[in-house]
Amino acid sequence: MRPMKILQIPDGLKNKALELADKHDAIIYCESCYGACDICDSEAKALGCDEIIHYGHSKFMESEIPVEYVEMRQEYDPRPVLQKDFEKIEGDIIGLVSAVQYLGSLEKAREFLENNGKKALIGKGNYNNGQILGCEVSAAKSIEEVVDSFLYIGSGKFHPLGLAIKTKKPVFVLDVEGGKIEELDKTLFEKQKYAAIALSKDAKKFGILVSTKPGQKNIELAKKIKKELEEKGKKAYILVFNEIRPEKLLGISLDCYINTACPRVAIENRAEFKKPILNPDEMENFK
Ligand code: SF4
Repeated sequence: MRPMKILQIPDGLKNKALELADKHDAIIYCESCYGACDICDSEAKALGCDEIIHYGHSKFMESEIPVEYVEMRQEYDPRPVLQKDFEKIEGDIIGLVSAVQYLGSLEKAREFLENNGKKALIGKGNYNNGQILGCEVSAAKSIEEVVDSFLYIGSGKFHPLGLAIKTKKPVFVLDVEGGKIEELDKTLFEKQKYAAIALSKDAKKFGILVSTKPGQKNIELAKKIKKELEEKGKKAYILVFNEIRPEKLLGISLDCYINTACPRVAIENRAEFKKPILNPDEMENFK
């Protein structure tokens, strides 16, 4: 009998779903996929699949079912944008980082910067050299002390925002879709964060949010937080989701949420929640 494979792809690649299903002789998983933490292993197991073909991300975790990761690198030359906006990048020593898709552009950026009087470094982390995730920036941390600023090459705000939160150096973003370089402004995020921290102070009933996505499943952390809150005289409930969305909380009357899943839920989507939401490292009032 032929092995059954299931194809898992980010929404941005759905236009290639049929072509890829033909290539791998696979069935197609249509739920959204946000990262390599989001492997559809329980669904694959329930369907009797032998292998998951996961597109768009690097290996993040072990899985019960074998996973073939296909990273999907993009050919991109950052030099025309660097040529145009070079003056905007502050500092003499620049740390270069990217999400997996644009890692191929880092060497070209390094060559350009070094030909224009700067020093450029690409750090080694837990994944490919220079690669960061929204929740994991070890490649940047490894060079943080020696660089003046970081240049992130890619699209979207979440990765550079994660970088700006977890390091103390300015972050410049070379936006491959907009064709420009800008310094990342984390003011709005900081304002929302401190407002949520202030509002959480008087909360009495907490919801601790847990995701069942394999790489985000932090039930032990949730149980620990629940115990700590209860020791402080608070009421705390653990709420389980696959994908955490604010509308799924409607009708459940709580004063504050603690997110134990992808940090993006509380960072990028904080304003969408009707009650303050904190990541565990933001629970300043409960230490
Ligand atoms: S937890 Fe969030 S930031 Fe980390 S890999 Fe998953 S989707 Fe990306």
